[in-house]
Amino acid sequence: MTESAHTPLPTVAQALQQAAAQGLARIDAQMLLLHCVGQGDAGRAWLLTHDNDALTPAQAAQWGQLLSRRLDGEPVAYLTGHKEFFGLSLQVDARVLDPRPDTETLVEWALELLQPLSKPKVADLGTGSGAIALALQHQRPDAEVTAVDASLDALAVASANAQRLQLPVRFVHSSWLEQLEGLFDAIVTNPPYIREDDPHMPALHHEPRQALTSGEDGLDDIRAIAAQAPARLTAGGWLLIEHGWDQAEAVAALLQTAGFTAVQHRHDLAGIVRCTAGQSPTAHSRVQTVK
Ligand code: GLN
Repeated sequence: MTESAHTPLPTVAQALQQAAAQGLARIDAQMLLLHCVGQGDAGRAWLLTHDNDALTPAQAAQWGQLLSRRLDGEPVAYLTGHKEFFGLSLQVDARVLDPRPDTETLVEWALELLQPLSKPKVADLGTGSGAIALALQHQRPDAEVTAVDASLDALAVASANAQRLQLPVRFVHSSWLEQLEGLFDAIVTNPPYIREDDPHMPALHHEPRQALTSGEDGLDDIRAIAAQAPARLTAGGWLLIEHGWDQAEAVAALLQTAGFTAVQHRHDLAGIVRCTAGQSPTAHSRVQTVK
């Protein structure tokens, strides 16, 4: 027997200790290890009840690779291939932004505003993995949800998610509202909004730049959406936008300039003013005005 045949394989507990010693967040290590041992759906309690189990050579090799890729900043979701968003399991990879829990705020808000309407028409601009559109369609089976993206790669990911989850979202290849026709009761978007020179950009280098940055002040795409949206909203319809932690006032001003009324904000889970919405100011609203 060679020396290497005696190299002990780490147990579950030792693998987690190794990750902690290298500075990896505990939750990330747990998710990656569950993935390596083929227990991705089991939940973290599985790790506690199996802490003395040794990894197989194949699992140990994959663990080593995922550990170093995560330490290089690759999102856990790309390494495991999926992400939970609003109760749905989405398949994600480097073709799309890793869906953030912050964005659930936008979904919750849209659901509240659409609550009084039956068969609401909704557009999700820059759908990426399909997260927002699919969550809305799942919560509101009667809604007519249209999801657009300028990236064909993103549309491939999103429509595969829709098919797997059997959610009847319609997909359109478009830059924002350019290729859409008809009117929507709500237009919802998590567009790119980071400044080109933002110091956090290097940490996000695994994600598509196109989904993250938007000009010098990060607001180029929000400006385009705010300008296009009034013509595509029903009377009293809403535009809801996710934006950066310091952009709430600038986005509110853009909406007001575009003629929106009832402009208001929502905080994300971390307490950051993360979303701003405005209502299309035409009379005879189909949607109730929310004060
Ligand atoms: N919230 C993400 C981040 O700051 C960015 C998402 C986006 O640009 N839409 O990492």
